[in-house]
Amino acid sequence: MRSGRSDVRGAGTLPGMGAYDLSLEELTGILAGWGEPAFRARQVHRQLWRRAARYEDMTDVPPPLRERLAAEVPLGVEVLEERTADGGATRKALLGLGPARHLVEVVLMGYRDRVTACISSQAGCAMGCGFCATGQMGLRNNLTAGEIAAQVMWAFREARRLPASTPRRLANVVFMGMGEPLANERAAFGAIERLVDPRGPKLGARHVTLSTVGLVPGIRHLGERFPQVGLAVSFHAADDELRDRLVPINRVHPISALVAAMREHRARTRRRPSIEWAMIDATNDSDDQARKLVRIARELGAHVNLIPLNPTPGWPTEPSSPQRIRGFVGVLESGGVNVTVRDTRGRGIEAACGQLRLAHDAAARG
Ligand code: SF4
Repeated sequence: MRSGRSDVRGAGTLPGMGAYDLSLEELTGILAGWGEPAFRARQVHRQLWRRAARYEDMTDVPPPLRERLAAEVPLGVEVLEERTADGGATRKALLGLGPARHLVEVVLMGYRDRVTACISSQAGCAMGCGFCATGQMGLRNNLTAGEIAAQVMWAFREARRLPASTPRRLANVVFMGMGEPLANERAAFGAIERLVDPRGPKLGARHVTLSTVGLVPGIRHLGERFPQVGLAVSFHAADDELRDRLVPINRVHPISALVAAMREHRARTRRRPSIEWAMIDATNDSDDQARKLVRIARELGAHVNLIPLNPTPGWPTEPSSPQRIRGFVGVLESGGVNVTVRDTRGRGIEAACGQLRLAHDAAARG
């Protein structure tokens, strides 16, 4: 574990706006005001989005301009803490983002065939899912589009330090970290636009997945704006009575409305959605829940991902036992549903979303 490494510091003259929030046109306007030609803005923009960690690394930009940029247009990405697990294949950071230094988590996971970054859309979350460490802290702040995209730039750089058994190149981004992206829709969509921009990191939209707890209007907007972006919905319960308790937003958008929105999304995008399901001991892991889930997953043609619960101090419940998970999987498979049990990457480094931030807050309180 290393801590306190800072990528860029500097007082900004653009309150609320870090460098990753600026379009090329806006950056060109600022540099023109400093008497710089347009090609300089293109140089700086290209470096920003092609993985330069600091202005001082932009060796094709004159030093006085680099210094002025660092002072007046800070990158706004401070690495406060980094931890690794799984032989270095899982890397997690607590970042301080933007002039307000919003604390969020980002996780990089290297597999044999792919590298995936899990990014946050909000500092905290207002959705109140009791089993989730981020839900337990409540919503602290929305992130800007640039602050969301900046996490991916950390992940691009960090991917080079993954073990040689992985491709060491970030190709997939999932919005599954802290926060509900569709509760911060404008910024989340702005971040996607930046990430798929051919002048930026050029991620393929099909390699981006947005995970939601089920905000129905946002699911519709996502399908309209980004038909190639994948949709994952955190269900965790297959009837309204249980889901109202586990996922409180279900009282606003019940399962029938959610399934209708997902059906519409599938018809519009032709992309198979996935259903995320935290396996919680003696709570949502019964055969009865599995049978109800079979009906929903088959109707949607959805893939089901089961994630053994990562226990949090604020919710004294255990993950389902391996035997119960096998039983649950058996019901799904015999119902014709494709199912994957996700590995629990990063146990021991507070890898579940929000846990590192909570640990950091507790340490700060002493
Ligand atoms: S599970 Fe997702 S939506 Fe629910 S509180 Fe946690 S971050 Fe928010």
